[in-house]
Amino acid sequence: MRMPSVKYQRGDKVMGRWPGSSLYYEVKVQGFDITSQLYTVIYKDGTELELKEPDIKSFSGFQTRSRSRSRSRSPGRRRSRSRSPGRTTRRSSSRTAAVAAAAVTESSLSSNKDTKMEVRLGPLQQTMAAENNSNNKHEENDMANKVNEKAEAEMEAESERNQGRYNLRRRKDDGGAKAAAVLAEQQEKEVIKEAAPPVATLATPLDFGGKIGAYLWLLFLPSWVLFLVFQVNLEDPSLLNFPPPLPPLEAFWDVKALGFVILWILFQALLYVLPIGKLSEGMPLRSGERLKYRTNGFFAIMVSAVAVAVAVHQGVDLIYIHSHFLQLAVASFLISVLLSVYLYARSRYAAPEQLAQGGNSGNVVYDFFKGHELNPRIKDFDLKFFCEMRPGLIGWCLINFALALAEMKLHHLDAPSYSMILVNVFQLLYVVDGLWNEEAILTTMDLMHDGFGFMLAFGDLVWVPFTYTLQAYYLVSHPNSLSLPVVGAIVTLKLLGFYIFRKSNSEKNAFRRDPSDPQLSHLKTIPTATGKSLLVSGWWGVVRHPNYLGDLMMALAWSLPCGFSHLLPWYYMIYFIILLVHRDSRDMRDCRRKYGSAWDEYCRTVRYRIIPRVY
Ligand code: NDP
Repeated sequence: MRMPSVKYQRGDKVMGRWPGSSLYYEVKVQGFDITSQLYTVIYKDGTELELKEPDIKSFSGFQTRSRSRSRSRSPGRRRSRSRSPGRTTRRSSSRTAAVAAAAVTESSLSSNKDTKMEVRLGPLQQTMAAENNSNNKHEENDMANKVNEKAEAEMEAESERNQGRYNLRRRKDDGGAKAAAVLAEQQEKEVIKEAAPPVATLATPLDFGGKIGAYLWLLFLPSWVLFLVFQVNLEDPSLLNFPPPLPPLEAFWDVKALGFVILWILFQALLYVLPIGKLSEGMPLRSGERLKYRTNGFFAIMVSAVAVAVAVHQGVDLIYIHSHFLQLAVASFLISVLLSVYLYARSRYAAPEQLAQGGNSGNVVYDFFKGHELNPRIKDFDLKFFCEMRPGLIGWCLINFALALAEMKLHHLDAPSYSMILVNVFQLLYVVDGLWNEEAILTTMDLMHDGFGFMLAFGDLVWVPFTYTLQAYYLVSHPNSLSLPVVGAIVTLKLLGFYIFRKSNSEKNAFRRDPSDPQLSHLKTIPTATGKSLLVSGWWGVVRHPNYLGDLMMALAWSLPCGFSHLLPWYYMIYFIILLVHRDSRDMRDCRRKYGSAWDEYCRTVRYRIIPRVY
């Protein structure tokens, strides 16, 4: 079926510009969306992108010009080209090569008088050129010229192969001369800069059960929080027991609770905007821009701790948090709904490149749920980053602390029980670590890919503070005594999990921020067509998502102090397994779409997911 009045038709082979760069690859047109005026194209490695018409050039014209131009290239140009170190030096990583292979620059199409057809060397050609670098200069020039010629001839074959450019050797053994390595790293950085896609969007399939799923999640999530809160208040909170009948409506509501939540959020917002702490750069957006984030979360939790201590000293009764848990949860829910409505409304006016790749289905409920705009900001105030890291996360610690006080009061204790101390300290460590390494969240899925809508707003403001505190809440009225050896075993498990979690997250974060970091030079990588590489040794070579493994071990350590009398405090563990398996599958799918065959190669090399030899 032909597409009416569009320049390129489904099935046409054309040259598509790789977003954010001047490199063109052969692509096949899959379709055209009249509303967005974007073509869906598929690259040879299976990567699917949406491109604007100006980013597509006719394939035939492109090839013809390419050939004739290279044949008429002047000796002078040959000389200078062959001497260009970037073109003749063997690289320490083939990342640039992966991007450059079979690619030609836009200048060949745009300049009219002295139209240049620049052929960039693929890895094979670069290696050949590098090997000949040691010969005399004439030979070097001639060889490099031949290499350039050959590069063209091989361009098609290379793009057919277009797979298997892997750098499975240690990167530091790979380059030869130090200067060459430095140069190569500089080039890598340039390519990474280039590779930030400006306008293309990935056509992401719907998540969470699609449109129907979004309706169901909207109903299920708040109901589930209510169920947990009612259930944990039961003397026998067995999941086989029916929850108690719903209390009258006014029991859900307390103005003071709403005021408390609003004050807390405002207080955290104030700490966030203070010009104290580092201004960190986020990952490049599709526009190529990098947003700045005030990463002063550690400062915020410290000031909050002091403020809470002063409040307690002044006689503020934090046990109110335990006695009004339901009302506080309802107030937070209300705020998350209002925030989501605001987020959805403003996303309707956002420019297309500001929208998330998911959450862009055109269905109001799905987009409201999944989040439409990627980085909604009021001036420099980043709403998603703030909600992800501050009120809910620090609020979680505040609630846990209040629950420890409630336990002491209820059981007339001078100090909280061992179980309560473990849960409090473990979770506090998790949050403090997250805030200390706040910059690392900038390379996570939530920040980079997910739009900000109900799912995250509810998750940040209700789910985290009011369900992650369930273990401490459970312990208030269902004490569980622990012997010292058991305490020791649980602490060991927690520390081991924490070590894996922190090391693997930091490794990936450091690599994404600076792939040429000398401290990571021992790691093996697989280049991808996007210009980014994938780690295939170190923590990310043990399993895919080693960070999830550490997280799961920690979740287990949080549940064990509650004992085995009831399933309820294990809810977090069960939920977390489901969450991480779902996130892992979602990420596998997204990475497959982003990285195509390079991702397949990674999966063949690192066979297990999350848990070595199991999943
Ligand atoms: P990750 O931080 O694991 O990010 C996944 C991304 O990492 C991928 O999309 C890809 O992004 C990149 N990546 C994957 N494999 C490789 C590789 N081999 N080499 C280099 N980069 C790779 O995912 P999350 O955002 O889900 O998790 C972040 C942390 O937060 C985890 O520790 C997780 O356990 C924790 N978490 C905790 C939750 C809780 O409720 N307690 C909830 C959710 C997460 P790209 O290539 O585009 O850079």
